[in-house]
Amino acid sequence: MLKRTRRTGKDKTVDFSASSEHLETEIQEWVAEERRKMGEILLDAGIIDSEQLLDALQAQQETGRRLGEILLDRGQVDEHQLAGVLAEQFHIDRADLRLMEPDPVAVARVTEELARKHKVIPLYVDEESRVSLVTGEPLGVDAIRELTQHCHRIRIMVGSTSDIERMLDQAYNALSLADEHIQAFNLIADEDESTSDAINLEVDENAPIVQVVNRILIQAARARASDVHIEPHEHQVVVRFRIDGALSVAIQLPRRMGAPVSSRLKVMSDLNIVERRRPQDGQFSVNVDGRPIDVRISVVGTVHGEKIVLRLLDKTRSLISLDHLGISPKILPDFIEIVKAPLGMLLCTGPTGSGKTTTLYATLTEVQDSTKNVVTIEDPVEYQFPGINQMPISEAAGISFADGLRGILRQDPDTILVGEIRDVETARIATQAALTGHFVLSSLHAVDSVSAIHRFTDMGIEPFLVASAVSGVVGQRLLRRICTSCRETYEPHPDHIRLTQGFAGKLPDAWTRGAGCNMCSGTGYAGRVGVYELLKVSDAIRNLIVAKATAKEIRDVAVAEGMSTMQTEAFKLVAAGVTTVDDVLRSVYAPGMEGDLLDIDEVEGIDLTEVEPEGLSDSGVADGGIVDVTERERVAVAAESFPAEPAPFEPAAFEQSAPAPIVVDPAAAYIDVTGTVAQAPVANGQVNGHVAPNGNGHMPPPAPTFHSNGVVNGEGLPPAPVFTPPVPAQEVVE
Ligand SMILES: [Zn+2]
Repeated sequence: MLKRTRRTGKDKTVDFSASSEHLETEIQEWVAEERRKMGEILLDAGIIDSEQLLDALQAQQETGRRLGEILLDRGQVDEHQLAGVLAEQFHIDRADLRLMEPDPVAVARVTEELARKHKVIPLYVDEESRVSLVTGEPLGVDAIRELTQHCHRIRIMVGSTSDIERMLDQAYNALSLADEHIQAFNLIADEDESTSDAINLEVDENAPIVQVVNRILIQAARARASDVHIEPHEHQVVVRFRIDGALSVAIQLPRRMGAPVSSRLKVMSDLNIVERRRPQDGQFSVNVDGRPIDVRISVVGTVHGEKIVLRLLDKTRSLISLDHLGISPKILPDFIEIVKAPLGMLLCTGPTGSGKTTTLYATLTEVQDSTKNVVTIEDPVEYQFPGINQMPISEAAGISFADGLRGILRQDPDTILVGEIRDVETARIATQAALTGHFVLSSLHAVDSVSAIHRFTDMGIEPFLVASAVSGVVGQRLLRRICTSCRETYEPHPDHIRLTQGFAGKLPDAWTRGAGCNMCSGTGYAGRVGVYELLKVSDAIRNLIVAKATAKEIRDVAVAEGMSTMQTEAFKLVAAGVTTVDDVLRSVYAPGMEGDLLDIDEVEGIDLTEVEPEGLSDSGVADGGIVDVTERERVAVAAESFPAEPAPFEPAAFEQSAPAPIVVDPAAAYIDVTGTVAQAPVANGQVNGHVAPNGNGHMPPPAPTFHSNGVVNGEGLPPAPVFTPPVPAQEVVE
């Protein structure tokens, strides 16, 4: 029977119990209860003013939408404020999932299916065996009914809907379910010592090894990992995911699972299971949560066994249009002018994982039109477009980019996308194509736009051909966005101020960074943003290319002609509060910094054109005052902060420049949904792959219980606002 304590203003406990035939009655009572209106609470808390409220109420009448939704859309409240208001309105506790970890005991009480269906997070189980559930919709009657029947007793807390959605993936981490299969594998292996070497892979879908591999793939796909690294070490096999460009440990497997996991993956991708020393690569497809995912696999023998890297391609990812890539409005018109031309070549450059493919595809959607024959040659075909002829390359079958390109050129193409130019043969054919009336789009591994030109000529293409064929080069990187859930202000290092002022010509209103929370796995970053530079091959640049000018000479002229470098664009994002100086320094390689700085003449009160960069000294870096930063100082700082000489581009160097994987004592780490390892104040030594145990003092007071019907905001509630208590300071947002 559901015990519902009658509440006074302070008593925040409401719970439902399925054992009672009174459940329906209780739910009805819960729904019918008189409550203050949301608008009133928002007003009292000073979150919105009466004018905004009246306006929103009117919109509510006209559209029938919920008040909370309307205010959210208008940016007048945020989700956390809304959760605070709902807690106030319903007299229930608010759960801030940025700071609280669901207890695995509670998670085990609610099936994943049910939790996802009703968008609730089981937070903990109290002494009375009530399961506390966090919901964004306290009036969700169906959810209350079904969850109460499932758990017997529940208690409701309110939380932000998007936090709940993200936490679902963490709480129901597929890897936490891998554990039982690992144990099962260990049991079998103990019985039969030969297991780790034998290739006994008659495909039993229930075999522990199959299950473990499946879990890894499922979790990688859910966590939006671009790559999975399975690495045999001396004592264990470490599985790491690359998410948003950074690797982090996802799970560790017993060492003896290494060979069977490798064999299983080889079977899936039709590779030679017996071959363990020669590198092999292949591919297979899996289906995760209804999404078809292509997996490219590469296997290489190492001293401790085979290292496997899986690259995941989610074919359902929606294509981004050029407008939404985040290319600055200063660059976009020139970019479009280049890609709309009937002939020429646009190259996209950057290290692996810098978003080149996304840019190429976005460009393709821009140029596609039914009057043109658009053909792509790709390795692999990552997205499939309607109306475009896409040709996959298969090195294994002996079809190279050059072969594909030759074939396609006989088919009257207008626009050709060559996935990547890797060799002189492809470079030569692509150049010829661009010179003979076709528009060619391609990518090239190079540090930045200017270096791409040299990379091309270094391959052996004559400078005059490059100069004539290439119409523009895009250089790009992805920067991490500051997590909006844990953004905090901080005192910047004087160098940060100087660099930002120097490159962006302005400073952020407030210096912010992510403090680290559950939503960003403690990294302080969530999501990424692209930063671009566009080298237009103008007459002057063309002459420089033909004259074999240095990268610096070319860059200086490009900047003088108005090119905004990646560094400048990146620091503008710092000034806009989107990312941090640290991430810019980590991601945006900066050759020839001085040339870039010379372009900054719009800094108020500083005449940069008078200063000779040669006169540099160390004196520039001083007390943090920004106002009269001089050119000398800027250059000095830049010189300190970046390598003096552009290092030759090496893909491996980029791998290394990625943030060092967070090394965590495995006994104190857990995986969060995004696959990143976070430090968990662990009580019971559960290791990764597990949702962090909580037991860490972050639990909310053992209070409220559950209820009903979920409307996020006020819909279905009595129409008048009322009420009082100020929203707790923490939700009032910085
Ligand atoms: Zn965060």
